[in-house]
Amino acid sequence: MRLILLGPPGSGKGTQAQRLVQRYGIIQLSTGEMLRAAVAAQTPVGIRAQGIMASGGLVPDDIVIGLISDRLDQPDAAKGFILDGFPRTVPQAEALDELLKKKRMRLDAVIELRVNESALLQRVEARAAETRARGEEVRSDDTPEVLTTRLASYRAMTEPLIHYYSERRKLLTVDGMMTIEHVTREINRILSAIGAVGAAAPSKAALGKRSAKASKKGRKAAPKRAGKPAGKASRKRPRTTQKAAKAPSRAPKKAARKSVASSRTRVATRSRKAAKKVTKRRAKA
Ligand code: AMP
Repeated sequence: MRLILLGPPGSGKGTQAQRLVQRYGIIQLSTGEMLRAAVAAQTPVGIRAQGIMASGGLVPDDIVIGLISDRLDQPDAAKGFILDGFPRTVPQAEALDELLKKKRMRLDAVIELRVNESALLQRVEARAAETRARGEEVRSDDTPEVLTTRLASYRAMTEPLIHYYSERRKLLTVDGMMTIEHVTREINRILSAIGAVGAAAPSKAALGKRSAKASKKGRKAAPKRAGKPAGKASRKRPRTTQKAAKAPSRAPKKAARKSVASSRTRVATRSRKAAKKVTKRRAKA
C-alpha cells in the first residue's frame, strides 16, 4: 500500500500515519521527522534546513526530494509506505511521480484530512502541552506565531496539491474534525473500499474488532473520490455523494473497486471544474 496523507499542520497526519503503520506493517516516511533528525545531527542538510524550519517556511524542494528518493530505495519501502508531510509543493509532487515511475511503484491514494482552520491552533497547543507533560522537548515550530506562517505556507504551496491529485483521481477526503478513532476508522474503510489493503492485510484481531463494530453500525458510505478542494466554506465537513453512499463497506473487494471506479468518474469531472474555480479564485485573491 502506498499512500500520501495530506493536510495542514495539526490535522492529524502523524497520528493517523502511526496507526496505519501499526495496522498494516508499512513504514511512515515523514520529511518533517527526517529533517528534525538532520537538524539534531547537524548534518549539512540539517544546517541548511534549521533556520527555515524554525521560521515555519518550507525547506527547498531539492533537499526533501533527495531525502525521499534515498528513503524509497531502502528495502523496507518495497512493502509499502505512508508519506506524511511530503509532497508539499507541486514540483515535489511531480518529482514524486517521476521517482515512483522509475521505481515502478504505483500510488494507491492521497488521503486529505480536511479540518477547520480555527481548531488547528488549539490542537497544536494541546500537542505541545502533551509533549511537555511527557518530559520531552517541544518542537520549536509548535508556537502560535510559527503556526501562522506554516498555515500560510500550506495554503499557498500545499493546497494546490488538492487540485493536482483530484485531477489524477487519487484524492480521497476525510473529515479530520472527527475524533482520532473515527478518522482512523474512516481511513481504514476507504482503504478497503479501494482495494488498497489486499497486499498488507490487517491483523486478525483488528479485523475481528472491526467486523464486530461494523455489524453493530450497519452499512456505511463509500469513500468520496476526488472531493471538492478545501475552500473556506467547505473545509468543515465533506459530504458524501448520494450514489457513493449506497456502496456497502463490507462489499467484496471487486464490487467495492467497481463502485469506487464509477463514482470516481462521476465525481472527478465535477471536482475538476470546482478545483479550477477555486484555483482561479485563489489566484485573484
Ligand atoms: P512537519 O513535521 O511535517 O510539520 O514539518 C516540519 C517542518 O519541516 C515544516 O514546517 C517545513 O519547514 C519542513 N518540511 C517538512 N516536510 C517538508 C517538505 N515536504 N517540503 C518542505 N519543507 C518541509
